[in-house]
Amino acid sequence: MSTQSFRGNSSGIHYTVKVSRRARHTRLKMSPEEGLTVVVPTGFDLQRVPVVVESKMAWILKVQSTFAKHRLADFGQTRVALPEVIELCGIGETWRVGYREECRESVKITELGLGELELSGAVSDHALCLASLEQWLKRRAKLRFESQLMRLASINGFKVSGVSVRKQRSRWGSCSTRGNINLNLKLLFLPPLLVRYIMIHELCHTVHMNHSARYWEAVERYDPDYVAHDREMRHAWRFVPAWFSGNR
Ligand SMILES: [Zn+2]
Repeated sequence: MSTQSFRGNSSGIHYTVKVSRRARHTRLKMSPEEGLTVVVPTGFDLQRVPVVVESKMAWILKVQSTFAKHRLADFGQTRVALPEVIELCGIGETWRVGYREECRESVKITELGLGELELSGAVSDHALCLASLEQWLKRRAKLRFESQLMRLASINGFKVSGVSVRKQRSRWGSCSTRGNINLNLKLLFLPPLLVRYIMIHELCHTVHMNHSARYWEAVERYDPDYVAHDREMRHAWRFVPAWFSGNR
């Protein structure tokens, strides 16, 4: 991005100035590793950089203190670090996650390409990052799980009225009397065979709303290994990464 970059200092704040041909406006960003970076467009009067930094001082100090708090928290291991890589075993996808601090109150999530995710904005706010990652995972899960479930349903002749995905603490899936199937968002982290088992399990509930012998006969027809899969489900919570399994 930069054609040239150099260090500066204003009111005791050290920063890197990057002159960018692509930048149209001045922009400030902060990261725990690189500190403050001031990106300016080509032709910008570099004498004015300290003024720009000074005008954003309140924001800079706020982010700095959040970084300091996070360092303390990480040191005390009171919080699980946000992921740099997300392995979505259940749908066979791996995503790298980048974080970019920008002068904004919210966090925006962008797919830069298949397998590349970027969070930008107030990324020093752990809770905001988690919330936006969760929203994104929900969209991803809905997209992939819905088509997989509908395909399984149509191949095997089940009638499904709707599919929803929710992050739940204790249930992997459920099926309503109207034929609405709900899947736990955490299935994204499970081996595909177990995801398929849960889908078969719920699809069979569209016919038998119980766990009767006839119900399990139906399950066996579509998943001959259902006994082993059902047993594995009891310990399947361990597949969910710590950064995501926290709070609920
Ligand atoms: Zn069941």
